[in-house]
Parts: sequence; structure tokens; C-alpha cells
Amino acid sequence: MNALVIAEHDNVSLNISTLHTVTAALQCNTNVHVLVAGYGCDAVAQAAAKISGIGKVLVADAIPFANGLAENVAQQILALALTHTYTHLLAPATVYGKNIMPRVAAMLDVGQISEVTKVVSADIFERPIYAGNAIATVQSLDEIKVLTVRAVNFAAAGMHGNAPVQPIMAAADSGKSLFISRDLATSGRPDLTSARIVVSGGRGLGSSENFRILEPLADELGAALGASRAAVDAGFVANDLQVGQTGKIVGPDLYIAIGISGAIQHLAGMTDSRVIVAINKDPEAPIFAVADYGIVGDLFEVVPDLIRELQCV
Ligand code: FAD
Repeated sequence: MNALVIAEHDNVSLNISTLHTVTAALQCNTNVHVLVAGYGCDAVAQAAAKISGIGKVLVADAIPFANGLAENVAQQILALALTHTYTHLLAPATVYGKNIMPRVAAMLDVGQISEVTKVVSADIFERPIYAGNAIATVQSLDEIKVLTVRAVNFAAAGMHGNAPVQPIMAAADSGKSLFISRDLATSGRPDLTSARIVVSGGRGLGSSENFRILEPLADELGAALGASRAAVDAGFVANDLQVGQTGKIVGPDLYIAIGISGAIQHLAGMTDSRVIVAINKDPEAPIFAVADYGIVGDLFEVVPDLIRELQCV
């Protein structure tokens, strides 16, 4: 019996969230397979084969998986699950994994355990509830456990393996969805969810033009840009930058919250950061309660000062 990790990828490269999910999978079952469902995805399969600790890479390379349509990928996972050789099915708790795994759980008629933050044992898991205010310890009595995994809570598996790559028969197109087009935001910055440093701005920035003062700071630090929901709702930045309960969950080494009050829904997305720095003119702002370092001051003075200091280093 094995655990199966669903690889997240774009047919070209393996998303790092897969490596974190493998670590969680290895804590559930020491025998882990990785499924790469894609089209023309050989490079991804070869990369997956290098993940330390896994037993095998299964590759379903077929047109229905070309665009990662959840309905089709779920059919492939279901076909594997019905072989009764899997104890656990795991995917990262990203947009990709969250789109696929509930479909799989429903088709298997089992409960899904979402956003797992700790594997206590093969059937007991921890997951946050109430926007991260409480941690629920849940036990799954289902024969097969369907999990989505919070990447920030598990170290990335190494890339020193040499697992065999096994092509498998691809499941047929579900016929339930059709790919039309994709609009991709391109950025030279690191991916928000895997960045080591995140510079995040809130409503305190005041406008989209002002928000741009964070860019040279992010450039100096090699950081990803993030934002609060208030900044997104006000149109300062696009919503793919949103951090929090209804945005992205981040856990960088350094999170710099600028002009962000620290509402509970924002904290739900960033309190796993190793070091938190807050810049806010209100000394009573709740963000200071979770910050390791706080600067009480006007961000329009503090941020340019910081950039100047960094440029001198
Ligand atoms: P504010 O709370 O308005 O804070 C702005 C801060 O900027 C203040 O602390 C102020 O002192 C400071 N400031 C102003 N001017 C300056 C200056 N010149 N220099 C320094 N500091 C300054 N929010 C999220 O972020 N992410 C989520 O995913 C999310 N999900 C939500 C889900 C639900 C169901 C709900 C109800 C809410 C959600 N929210 C989320 C919204 C959340 O409740 C807050 O409204 C939001 O986080 C506030 O954003 P903010 O801190 O930028 O704005």
C-alpha cells in the first residue's frame, strides 16, 4: 500500500509545493508514489523522479491533461484510487490542489481533510479552523484518506532521488469542461507562496501609484510582493497578490507588513513566517502583536529610508 502525491506543474516545471506535499506524504506512509498528469510533461516527470524518498513516478501523458483541468485530473486519480493500492491521496492546498481533491473525495464518497498542517499519525491530522484561530485535530476513518497539504508547514523534500518513471494508461477526457484560454500575469519576482522574503502592502499605501514605492524595496531584497485584501479591494494591486484567509498562505523567512493593520483574516495567511516586520503609524495596530520587529512611523518616510540603507549595503 502506498501514498499518492499529485504533482503540481505546468508541463514544463514541477511546482515546489509538490516537494512539501511529499514530505507530508512520507509522514503518512513511507511508500510514496508521485502522479504527473500532463501533456508533453516529460521534463516534469524527470524532475519528479529526483524527489528524495519516493518509490515511483507515474506519468499519465495525454491531451486531456494538457491544461490541468481539474475534472480530467480527478478522473485519473480516481482510476488509480480504485486499484485499492493507495492509503492516502495528497495534493498541495493551492488553487490547483483545492480544485481537484474535493472532486476526488466526492467520487470516492470519503471525507476530505483540507489544509493539513501536521500529520500526527497515518489517520490523525491537524488543520486550522476559524481563520487559524484554533487548530482542529481530526481523525479520518475512511479507508482512503484524501488530503490537501499546507506547504508552509512541511519542509520541502530533497532532490537527490532516482525513482523509476512509469507511464500509465491515461483516463479518458471527462467531457465536463473545455479549455478556452489562459490569461497569465507575468512577473520577474519570486512566486508569492514560495518566496523567502515577502514585502506586503495594505490600505495604508493609499493608492496604486503609492503602492509602487514597495517595488524598489522588493527589488533590493529579491522579494515577492503581497497585499492585504483591503489593498486588493481598493484596486491598488491585482488579487493574485492577496495574502490571508481568502488569499494565499505564505511562510517566508521574512515578511514585511507595511501599512497593514493585522486583521485576523490577514494574519491567517502569514503568521507562519519566520520573522515578521511591521511598519505602521498606529502603535496600537494589532500587527505589532505578531511582529518580531515593529517600526512605528509613517511608511512614506520609513520605506524610502529602508531602501536607501539597503542600497548602501
Ligand atoms: P486597514 O485595516 O485599513 O489598515 C491600514 C493600516 O495602515 C492601519 O493600521 C493604519 O494605521 C496604517 N497606515 C495608514 N497610513 C499609514 C502610513 N502613512 N504609514 C504607516 N501606516 C499607515 N484581509 C486580508 O488581508 N486577507 C484576506 O484573505 C482576507 N480575507 C477576509 C475574509 C473575510 C470573510 C472577511 C470578512 C475579511 C477578510 N479580509 C481579509 C479583510 C480583513 O478583515 C481586513 O479588512 C483587511 O485585512 C484590512 O486590510 P489593511 O490592513 O490593509 O487595512
